[in-house]
Amino acid sequence: MLMPPFELHHPTSVAEAVDLASSLMEQGLGFDWVAGGTDVLPNYKWRINPQPHVISLAAIEEAHSLLPTSIGCMVRLDALTADNGVHPLLVEAAAKVASSLIRKSATVGGNLCLDTRCFWYNQGEDWRRSIDWCHKADCGTGADCRVIPNQNTLCVATYQGDLAPNFMVLGASVHLIGPQGERQLPLSEFYALDGMKKNVLEPGEFLLKVTLPEEAFSRVGSYQKLRVRDSWDFPEAGVAASWIPSQPESLKIASTALESIPRLHNEEVSKTLASNGMEPVAMAAAIHKAVKPVNNTALPPRYRRSMVKTLTKRALRALQQGE
Ligand SMILES: Cc1cc2nc3c(=O)[nH]c(=O)nc-3n(C[C@H](O)[C@H](O)[C@H](O)COP(=O)(O)OP(=O)(O)OC[C@H]3O[C@@H](n4cnc5c(N)ncnc54)[C@H](O)[C@@H]3O)c2cc1C
Ligand code: SF4
Repeated sequence: MLMPPFELHHPTSVAEAVDLASSLMEQGLGFDWVAGGTDVLPNYKWRINPQPHVISLAAIEEAHSLLPTSIGCMVRLDALTADNGVHPLLVEAAAKVASSLIRKSATVGGNLCLDTRCFWYNQGEDWRRSIDWCHKADCGTGADCRVIPNQNTLCVATYQGDLAPNFMVLGASVHLIGPQGERQLPLSEFYALDGMKKNVLEPGEFLLKVTLPEEAFSRVGSYQKLRVRDSWDFPEAGVAASWIPSQPESLKIASTALESIPRLHNEEVSKTLASNGMEPVAMAAAIHKAVKPVNNTALPPRYRRSMVKTLTKRALRALQQGE
């Protein structure tokens, strides 16, 4: 498959990247950010929403900085190791992303900003043409959504990144920068429940780094992932949990690959703690009730949803055994 033509830009500072984005927007020219390119470039080869301009974040030194509580967007997943002082839960989660080869290019920023996925969308151009396209990549035809037809207001493509729920249960924040300046928000507020919009990034804005509170290092965690092939597949369901040992009230649980956003389950956790304490079966039932996967990934939604119970129980038992 041939790459469609695009102009590649290599800004060497955050300011230059933001200026470049502003200038392209003023000229009405579409662009994408690229980090490791392991997701966006295969999509381009499949002619999935390619843009005429691509801005690489690779030459921005600040974006590569790696400290235990501050991880730049260009940090590669294979650098998330204990030797680099990274939280053990992030080490565990990063090691479960894709394959070792992909992890050498894939980045933290690209993982957190990963495009949502759907089996009607992540296909070659000929395949998509044969079904007359779909709403998210409709090639100007006004095609319908194939998962929830007769409505073209919402795309329910699934977010299938592994790192986000793990960062969420450690209380991470994201630092965004763009033409309107810099802002910081909890990662749990970064995602938008819309498979096309995906997150709250404004036009021209990018994710510069993710930070953790010091308190994160008092937490132990566990990440449980369901996938078809352990060697490299995307999660079909994922549950992350963390707590400060022997303090049930500190428990946090987040899920991924079950809807268009990764979700932090604060409400379900606090209600269940109040009624049943940190009891794995009751907690698993509450998380199971909160998620509603749709039929657009490799495994059937009913199976993925039922596995949420198993994954949650495994995660909580791992926390309790590590006490
Ligand atoms: C075979 C295969 C298996 C995979 N398995 C998994 C898996 O198991 N789990 C998983 O989580 N992922 C998986 N992936 C997806 C992907 O490789 C990873 O999510 C990776 O971390 C993406 O990072 P990247 O730097 O390559 O992103 P890119 O491809 O460069 O970018 C991804 C998206 O994020 C945007 N973006 C990148 N950086 C930024 C930024 N700093 N600010 C704003 N937007 C940004 C891009 O515009 C693009 O839309 C898989 C991919 C392949 C090809
Ligand atoms: S959920 Fe609907 S609009 Fe979104 S990618 Fe799938 S088929 Fe297309």
